[in-house]
Amino acid sequence: MDSTTATAELGWTIYPSLGWEEVSGYDENMNTIRTYQVCNVFNSSQNNWVRTKYIRRRGAQRIHVEMKFSVRDCSSIPNIPGSCKETFNLYYFESDSDTATKVFPAWMENPWIKVDTIAADESFSQVDLGGRVMKINREVRSFGPVSRNGFYLAFQDYGACMSLIAVRVFFRKCPRVVRNGAVFPETLSGAESTSLVAARGTCIPNGEEVDVPIKLYCNGDGEWLVPIGRCMCKAGHEAVENGTICRACSSGFFKPSQGDQQCLQCPMNSRTTNEGATNCVCRNGYYRTDSDPAQMPCTTVPSAPQRVISSVNETSLRLEWSPPRESGGREDVVYNIICKSCGSGRGACTRCGDNVQFVPRQLGLTEPRVHISDLLAHTQYTFEIQAVNGVSDQSPYSPQFASVNITTNQAAPSVVSIMHQVSRTVITLSHTQGWNKPTNMAELNSSVLRSQTNTAVVRGLKPGTIYVFQVRARTVAGFGRFSGKMYFQTMTEEEYNSSLQEKLPLIIGSAAAGFVFLVAVIVLVIVCNRRGSDRTDSEYTDKLQHYTSGHSEAPIFSFQVSPGMKIYIDPFTYEDPNEAVREFAKEIDMSCVKIEQVIGAGEFGEVCSGNLRLPGKREILVAIKTLKSGYTEKQRRDFLSEASIMGQFDHPNIIHLEGVVTKSSPVMIITEFMENGSLDSFLRQNDGQFTVIQLVGMLRGIAAGMKYLCDMNYVHRDLAARNILVNSNLVCKVSDFGLSRFLEDDTSDPTYTSALGGKIPIRWTAPEAIQYRKFTSSSDVWSYGIVMWEVMSYGERPYWDMSNQDVINAIEQDYRLPPPMDCPNALHQLMLDCWQKDRNNRPKFGQIVNTLDKMIRNPNSLKATTPLSSGMHLPLLDRSTPDFSSFNSVDEWLDAIKMGQYKENFANEDFTSFDAVSQMTMDDILRVGVTLAGHQKKIFNSVQMMRAQMNQIQSVEV
Ligand code: AMP
Repeated sequence: MDSTTATAELGWTIYPSLGWEEVSGYDENMNTIRTYQVCNVFNSSQNNWVRTKYIRRRGAQRIHVEMKFSVRDCSSIPNIPGSCKETFNLYYFESDSDTATKVFPAWMENPWIKVDTIAADESFSQVDLGGRVMKINREVRSFGPVSRNGFYLAFQDYGACMSLIAVRVFFRKCPRVVRNGAVFPETLSGAESTSLVAARGTCIPNGEEVDVPIKLYCNGDGEWLVPIGRCMCKAGHEAVENGTICRACSSGFFKPSQGDQQCLQCPMNSRTTNEGATNCVCRNGYYRTDSDPAQMPCTTVPSAPQRVISSVNETSLRLEWSPPRESGGREDVVYNIICKSCGSGRGACTRCGDNVQFVPRQLGLTEPRVHISDLLAHTQYTFEIQAVNGVSDQSPYSPQFASVNITTNQAAPSVVSIMHQVSRTVITLSHTQGWNKPTNMAELNSSVLRSQTNTAVVRGLKPGTIYVFQVRARTVAGFGRFSGKMYFQTMTEEEYNSSLQEKLPLIIGSAAAGFVFLVAVIVLVIVCNRRGSDRTDSEYTDKLQHYTSGHSEAPIFSFQVSPGMKIYIDPFTYEDPNEAVREFAKEIDMSCVKIEQVIGAGEFGEVCSGNLRLPGKREILVAIKTLKSGYTEKQRRDFLSEASIMGQFDHPNIIHLEGVVTKSSPVMIITEFMENGSLDSFLRQNDGQFTVIQLVGMLRGIAAGMKYLCDMNYVHRDLAARNILVNSNLVCKVSDFGLSRFLEDDTSDPTYTSALGGKIPIRWTAPEAIQYRKFTSSSDVWSYGIVMWEVMSYGERPYWDMSNQDVINAIEQDYRLPPPMDCPNALHQLMLDCWQKDRNNRPKFGQIVNTLDKMIRNPNSLKATTPLSSGMHLPLLDRSTPDFSSFNSVDEWLDAIKMGQYKENFANEDFTSFDAVSQMTMDDILRVGVTLAGHQKKIFNSVQMMRAQMNQIQSVEV
């Protein structure tokens, strides 16, 4: 209610009639208004009421009344009585309907309820009712709670001179509002000025509640306070206009989830179909996996892998390829291999069986390479390398692939072990069925026998005769290689008769399982009469295995064949050595070879470095050995023999043969390139540069390569640091498989001394090999000991400048090389073990590898070294010195080394314990009074030996 808006008389009820009076006036802005005035100050006991019309409550609980009025200052009125007032009272009366009359409610407090007595802040001195400027007071009062439908207000004057200029009646409310994504309705303030009225909000259209309940509080002043809970725009809609509207994403945009974020543009290769999209659908040919986020572009299948490189090795295959040009926009490309076997090439291909092995696996390869084995020999295969990614299975098309066709070679040689029984005139292979028995073996130079099983018997052999056997397997896929030759000798009549007295073992060797694939065993029998030509005899007797077994009538051989292990085949056992080259070395076309520079001089011509690029393969660095022009056929054969030997080996510590060039000139042998060249010169150039562990690592590699050769039945005969090559990773590889330098007529190289039956590198060779050409893996172990010494002394020449003959004599007298400077005792001990006079006492290569591995694992074992009194070479160690531990006293020991005359001298200087003696230096020996140079040397050597023996004991105790 606002009295100022009245355009006509207000018509409020007045009591008594001579009290308040309605007059027109002006407000401060000179607008015409209706006012009530009273000014009965000269009459005491005034009680003048004016009552508003009925005012509807309209839901309000608290009513506010704003009053504008002016009051005359009593003191400004001359002769004013004491009853003059400057205040008035405000009352209200509630009623459900407009029932007031002139007499009801009664004009008194109760029934009226008093709100307050209102005083003027300012009063004006001059009453000017003629429309001139007035000083106006403004007061606001409120009351509540009110609950009836409406009410009246009344203003009571009790003796003031005043004018009630304007009355405005209102209530407070909080307006409809959108806050935190929710709409709150208009809400009226509470009954008290301090009350908070809670209002529940509802989410705006396309909004969703995030926190509930959603509330705001309306305070007494009509202000919203304390927001609780919130709504957010749902997926496909974004908040606009200050969060008051959730608007659908326009086309080409999407919003994947409820939240505050804005709509996003569709990622690449996707689009929307309508407004308000929560995701974008992929265009044709593009896909998403369940786990791909909606913001990620749609992806497609990868293109085919590229540049497949295949390398077939017998019945295994290595495939490598480059990733596809197009990954489809994904990073989860993997590869599947589909194997199809095509038999001999005619007819359709079929999927390979389960027996083909894939390493690391056939499907889901993360790296672009795979090793495939256990393929059938001599069979065509097609391999498809599929590139697939996370969306491949959504594409209706099968994955793109690159394919390669290969043909396997023959199966790996299959002879492992041979069980044999030799009797007098019969060689028996324990299962006889299927054999073409030769009626009279002795008359044949050679003969081929076949067996359907893995055993066979050969009867009718001549007594006292050497037989040479080679065995090969045949499977559905073709022939395997022949085994190495085995030499057997049947007993003579006399041997047989004397053997009858003894019971002898029948079977030597071991059997192995796994013959399922075997179709036939082919045994090639070559018969050599024992009393044949001298040449034959000497060639064979070395290799001969004597068997004096058998109490039956006839000599018996039993062959047992099983798959797996290879045996080295001497290329010279081939009738035509070129055949061996063809079998073991791949022919390379000269156009694939690029020679870069000369890096050394070989036996037969220059050694060069260069590049090899085989079709479908990566270019690699290679070493190229050439055969100089003007060679004889024999030189060509000897030169290529190295390739047919090397080509049989496959081991990380054996130099790898890439192939040979024989169809064009010059003839070449191509091997992997070894960046650091030969070991001896490499060590000399890097004197003192390596840790002991690095040196032991090199030695370990050489020993592993030698173990492999030994397992292949190959005797190297020329193991020396100069024949070890070193690559950029310090990997050492055994090389130099040439045979020619052993031949007598070549005198160009002083390292090799002519000896009976060939040339020998004396310093590296075991005594039994020098003396009677007994070259075995055990003589290779001796040479290995020398290589150890070369390595630990950084390429020092073994036995320094001693002559070959002095070396032979020294070794014969049990002198051995002393430890090189800073050489761990354990390593020197291993060298000494390799230099055992009796070859059976030398360690095997397998044991050497194990010993070195232990040292590498436990580097502390390499700490103990023998201190050197000077940088000079130590004299050779006298290995004939008896073990000090077998003596009870230093005196006994001095007697044993034939130096008993110095007992007193030792005792006088307190060298009475082995501990003290073992620490003696050359100075000490001089001090005790040993003046003869020969005696000094003897004692010094023996002291060194004692120290070595002590270290050995200590390491055993540790
Ligand atoms: P050889 O005829 O095998 O003794 O080779 C003569 C020299 O050529 C060696 O001493 C090496 O310096 C070098 N040589 C031979 N083969 C290779 C290779 N595969 N890599 C690097 N250098 C080699």
